[in-house]
Amino acid sequence: MFDYFRPTLQALSLDHIVIEQLVQDGIKGLIIDLDNTMTPWNDLEVGPKVAEWFIKVKAAGISACVVSNNKRRQRVAAVAEQLAIPFVFGATKPRGRAFRAGMKLLGTGQEDTAVIGDQLFTDILGGNRLGLYTILVTPINEHEFIGTRVMRRLERVLVWIMKHFAPAKPASPKIH
Ligand SMILES: [Mg+2]
Repeated sequence: MFDYFRPTLQALSLDHIVIEQLVQDGIKGLIIDLDNTMTPWNDLEVGPKVAEWFIKVKAAGISACVVSNNKRRQRVAAVAEQLAIPFVFGATKPRGRAFRAGMKLLGTGQEDTAVIGDQLFTDILGGNRLGLYTILVTPINEHEFIGTRVMRRLERVLVWIMKHFAPAKPASPKIH
């Protein structure tokens, strides 16, 4: 059960994800969360470091799309369009169909798609259930709506439990 909450990789932020490693691991498509992963909560601007990281992703031949549970089409579109990448808004992460919609946009499959997000209960759980490569990033800020804040508390409890009762395996399992 805990394995579903264990990401393949962890990174401080999007721009800390080493693209060479993704290439080496056979990743060809990225399904990326929006709020607190690409931008601060409900912010429209992508920071310069993140924008630069996306240029490198494209140069490496990796496709990316935004898959967000955010229901505001305009907001999701505004960020995705800055980066000229496709998007899914009002997604239903952790449900499988949200990730399948992303893979359809990318033209990738289970073996070469990575999910990147800041939440264990939506991004990581959903990606792991489909056997995808998952990357957990630290949320950009804590200015979030109340539902997410409750989830964060649960996440902290879960991380504590995992640390004390289910130590990480010495080598993380390869997805492909
Ligand atoms: Mg998020």
